Amino acid sequence: MKICVIGAGYVGLVAALSFAKYKNDVICVDKDVNKVNQLNKGIPTIYEEGLEPLLKKCLEKKYILFTNNIRTAISLSDVIMITVGTPTNPDWSVDISQVIDAANEISISIDKYKVIIIKSTVPVGTHETVKNIFINRGVNENNFDVVSNPEFLREGRALNDFLNGDRMVIGSNSKKAIRIINKIYGPFKTKIIYTNPPTAELIKYASNALLATKISFINEMANLCSKVDANIETLSYGLGLDKRISKEFLNAGIGYGGSCFPKDTKALVNIGEKYGCEFNIVRSTIKVNENQRLKPVEILLDHYNKIEGKTIAILGLTFKPGTDDIRDAPSLYIIDELLSMGAKIKCYDPTVSKEMETLFPNITYCNSIIETVKDSHCAIICTELDEFYKMDLKIIAENMKKPVLIDGRNIIRMKKAKKSGFSHYYSIGNGSFE
Ligand code: NAD
Repeated sequence: MKICVIGAGYVGLVAALSFAKYKNDVICVDKDVNKVNQLNKGIPTIYEEGLEPLLKKCLEKKYILFTNNIRTAISLSDVIMITVGTPTNPDWSVDISQVIDAANEISISIDKYKVIIIKSTVPVGTHETVKNIFINRGVNENNFDVVSNPEFLREGRALNDFLNGDRMVIGSNSKKAIRIINKIYGPFKTKIIYTNPPTAELIKYASNALLATKISFINEMANLCSKVDANIETLSYGLGLDKRISKEFLNAGIGYGGSCFPKDTKALVNIGEKYGCEFNIVRSTIKVNENQRLKPVEILLDHYNKIEGKTIAILGLTFKPGTDDIRDAPSLYIIDELLSMGAKIKCYDPTVSKEMETLFPNITYCNSIIETVKDSHCAIICTELDEFYKMDLKIIAENMKKPVLIDGRNIIRMKKAKKSGFSHYYSIGNGSFE
């Protein structure tokens, strides 16, 4: 199959390489010239496990090509997949302008039948908007089908999820389009659900909103645990053994981040409003998360009264392990708040560099955990990176001033922190000592 993927971001690059892995002819288009040049040289533009060798192999075998030339890419392909960004507007509506731009480009270049797959997360009705762009441009209705096919991959496990996800949702009323899509997804080990486009568009938002709600719920439980000497880890374990609840997404901490949950929860509230449906639960989920991500600042204010002049070590910047993505990460909000209170920030994350330095040019970027904690008053774990589980707490405590540890991801046992020489330890509902 000849497949064109528009957008070489977290989803587009993973999708393009997954199709190339199964020997489809893939052209991946991005408007970013540097990205395209870098990818054609075999240098990944994002961090994702297994991506680099697959990229190199697919380029070597010529199963994939990256280009800025969208029109040629479209005219050479049978299937066109739109994977561009859909950020949030200040009023929580979804900015689908990148999808519209891509659709406009496609409409100019359709010369024979093509399946247009909308993989970006888009508000209900976007498939109609895209279809109307083609019709208004005079494209013959027999020459295209628009299919809603949202993506559920998780950053950090993106390649595996794309190929072996829990499910794939195909929203289309066209038998011809479904036959073609079945062919490209044929080798993947995923359960496929067939439905109409509005249902497909909504499943994605429902899924992310429910997962985010589970996180905010367990975080509220953790905050109560902290007050009454209860333990959130045991509570979560007890909850998760109930199969109706499941143990997933019950880890308390400093809240969710990333490019999906914050944006998709807001989008669902906004979409609901348009149709007269109040999403009160999701609104609360968002509010709880906004407070939760600043929990370490609240703890520090209680601890020091005044944060000005204190040096704070931030361990981990990404919103979760296994990715270099810092979009909407809790660490950004914590750093911003602490800087506004006059703290000095040192930070460490092995996968993040340039983008962070542009956002926060006036903080210290360190190359190791020890360099980060050296002479700091307090260390805050913001991401549950493997190396933080394994770090030598005794050496960490020895290098700090009066060692205070805030474990924002509940990865360090309270007893171990005490034995290692920390003067104070705070977790998120998993015990503390002062
Ligand atoms: P991203 O910002 O990483 O990538 C989007 C890419 O599209 C960028 O490289 C950009 O340059 C390119 N682009 C934009 N307009 C273009 C155009 N007209 N022509 C060519 N290239 C263009 O975004 P992402 O994280 O990959 O997300 C893409 C979509 O998938 C979003 O709707 C998102 O909500 C959804 N999604 C993301 C994830 C995730 O984990 N990141 C998971 C599931 C779904």
